[in-house]
Amino acid sequence: MTEENQKQNSKATKEYKKASEIAEKAFTYIEEHQTPAYPSTYAFWYSYAARSDEDMVRTVDETLEKTGSLSVYDINQLHDKFLSADEAEKRQSEKIGNDFEKEMVSVMRLVQQGMSSSDSYCSSLDAAQEQLPDAVSPDKIAEIVTSLIAQNQEMREMTETLNSGLQKSQSQIHELNAQLAKARDESMRDGLTKLANRRSFDISLAREIATARENGTDLTLVLADIDHFKRVNDTYGHQVGDGILQTFASLISNNVKGRDIAARYGGEEFALILPQTNMQSAFHLVEKIRKDLESSKLVIKSTGQCVGKVTSSFGMSMLQDGFEAETLIQRADAKLYDAKNNGRNRIEMDSRKSEAA
Ligand code: GH3
Ligand code: MG
Ligand code: MG
Repeated sequence: MTEENQKQNSKATKEYKKASEIAEKAFTYIEEHQTPAYPSTYAFWYSYAARSDEDMVRTVDETLEKTGSLSVYDINQLHDKFLSADEAEKRQSEKIGNDFEKEMVSVMRLVQQGMSSSDSYCSSLDAAQEQLPDAVSPDKIAEIVTSLIAQNQEMREMTETLNSGLQKSQSQIHELNAQLAKARDESMRDGLTKLANRRSFDISLAREIATARENGTDLTLVLADIDHFKRVNDTYGHQVGDGILQTFASLISNNVKGRDIAARYGGEEFALILPQTNMQSAFHLVEKIRKDLESSKLVIKSTGQCVGKVTSSFGMSMLQDGFEAETLIQRADAKLYDAKNNGRNRIEMDSRKSEAA
């Protein structure tokens, strides 16, 4: 291995080690502050952990001293202030992942180089051995051989060290990526019901509306709300209420399939995004959910006590020309309100024509 290669090796290994340490710290901060791990929040904590921007570190420390923790709102504000100064930096979050991969590739390349120089060194050693019988004094020969072997051994050891370091790094990267994927997934799910959360719902609805527009397909939105849920809580306690929310969520999940998206929209409100589904087909599905809850035998596990009948109401709207996500939600919500006023435990469908249609 040339001296230049050795230098490159050691520089790349050092840089890689540093990046891994910073990433690990960033994850610690994410955990400590229970920050949802979006690319922007990860970039924020990564940058804080790197401590390369003194102003940012000072501001974050001051905020932490005052409030003890940072909310996603705080982080977004600070992110915009310190990390979004230019377009290049805006993409920092995506860059982090790429940097890891690049670092890996460069370390790997250097190891390969090391290995091939080691191999060629072995060949030159063989050649030297062949030529040695014709060489001058036996002492000189011994000296050449000893030196060649020593150098070769050193190089092999270095390559081995680098190789095992590389393997460790590789598994560390997999671990970091898995952690990031898990944190991302968790940040999009509701903790109690494991359905998509509101944030995830908003993103999915915008995406599904765009797809439906592009393909000229139907899309129905359903908003569901458990009836008299306050009374359920008051009668049986909040924990039983939580259990009922979980039951209702799994009942919804069991009735949807494919591209359908079930989300917890708010406290005891749920939403269903049904792509490629018109109002009539959606009605059959929702009617099944309504009946399933109505006929569920809800029992309190700890006492075996039966919870009386729990029902749910639904409002539905269908995508029409000129509708924004907000329009669709407002219309479904208005129908949910009607379902409540018309006696609950029922489904109401929006039949108004779009103003733009
Ligand atoms: P309506 O039929 O008109 O919908 O009546 P309601 O009692 O269901 O509606 P209201 O909005 O008056 O009350 C909703 C209740 O849902 C109050 C709130 O405490 C409860 N709730 C919201 N989130 C949760 C939760 O996560 N767990 C439990 N157990 N209850 C919750
Ligand atoms: Mg409600
Ligand atoms: Mg309710």
